[in-house]
Amino acid sequence: MFDVLIIGGGVSGMSCSLVLGSAKNKPFVANKKIGIFTHQKTSSLQEALFKNAYGIPPGKLGSDLLHESITHLSETYPHIVQIPSEKVLKIEGICPEFTVITNKTSYKTRIIVVGIGSANTFAIEGLMEYVEPHQKSLPEKQRIQLKNIDHKVAEGIHVIGTLAGWRSQLAIAAGSGAAVATDILTLWNDGIQTHAHDSIR
Ligand SMILES: Cc1cc2nc3c(=O)[nH]c(=O)nc-3n(C[C@H](O)[C@H](O)[C@H](O)COP(=O)(O)OP(=O)(O)OC[C@H]3O[C@@H](n4cnc5c(N)ncnc54)[C@H](O)[C@@H]3O)c2cc1C
Repeated sequence: MFDVLIIGGGVSGMSCSLVLGSAKNKPFVANKKIGIFTHQKTSSLQEALFKNAYGIPPGKLGSDLLHESITHLSETYPHIVQIPSEKVLKIEGICPEFTVITNKTSYKTRIIVVGIGSANTFAIEGLMEYVEPHQKSLPEKQRIQLKNIDHKVAEGIHVIGTLAGWRSQLAIAAGSGAAVATDILTLWNDGIQTHAHDSIR
């Protein structure tokens, strides 16, 4: 049983998992099992070139970021379970026990975070009732988002990145994933506000 499963190994999903991973020494995180589906085939990063993203050297290829983020997560936070090459097809159940069904197997989790981009090919059974037209992209692009209030779709289900209705910029997607990570940390801390910082002191 996972405490949280993040769906999507692009910008928002990896950002969410890094922040959750970095909180490992907090007592309320110590016993939590965190996983991420690191499917990357359809990431917007595949064809992107970055010159305007904070903290990223200009000229960086999105395809390099995809590989590097996997290494970053596995080397810095090896306790986060990475599930590669599986596509999520269906979600069943209600909070606090969901079943996430992939093209290979299934997993149980208490919380789901969905960050799979805003393409209208979205087809995860069990989430279709939340799909609506994207509110911040051109109508002719026919992008979609999941209905949400401050990233929360329903009890135990959060959405991040462009699928949450944000405009398509790397920094926004990363911030959205990080924001939900801190929402989950706050939930695990019995509702007391928290975040995850490292320091040289
Ligand atoms: C060509 C191009 C150029 C760009 N240039 C810039 C730029 O210069 N500056 C900038 O700031 N932004 C740029 N962007 C935008 C930026 O890349 C996106 O805003 C960002 O990647 C969105 O992050 P995300 O997490 O929402 O989605 P993504 O990064 O697309 O991640 C979604 C992930 O979900 C996975 N996935 C999909 N379906 C499933 C499923 N069923 N099960 C499991 N996993 C699944 C995908 O494989 C992917 O890894 C560019 C985008 C493109 C396409």
